Amino acid sequence: MLSCPRCQATIEPTTIQCPRCRLTLKAHGHPGIPLHRTEGDEPLCATCLYDADDTCNFPQRPHADTCTLYRSVNAAKDVEQPSPSPGQQLGFWLRNHRGLVGIVGLLLLSLVLVLVR
Ligand code: SF4
Ligand SMILES: [Zn+2]
Repeated sequence: MLSCPRCQATIEPTTIQCPRCRLTLKAHGHPGIPLHRTEGDEPLCATCLYDADDTCNFPQRPHADTCTLYRSVNAAKDVEQPSPSPGQQLGFWLRNHRGLVGIVGLLLLSLVLVLVR
């Protein structure tokens, strides 16, 4: 049985917020989006695979205390975990290519403006 990391109240895997201490356990109010939380003084990024392979571009890196995409380096070594979902991969790609996305957006907007005239 799972328990709240703050107050140890018994919780379900889909619990969004601890019913006793109100700690947020899932991100964006969605039971399917886990919100990983550091358990000590060390930020999550220190043990995160995406910090180790330098693919993370989140602004809270390298001091994240909570994160939706955290993936432990140790767990990745021990157990072959599923790779990030296509949505997560797209999110990383978009964050890493903001300039390109902006330019393509401007080009598309220009094209639309030309076509509607
Ligand atoms: S995915 Fe989250 S925990 Fe991992 S490096 Fe990025 S911000 Fe840090
Ligand atoms: Zn609690």
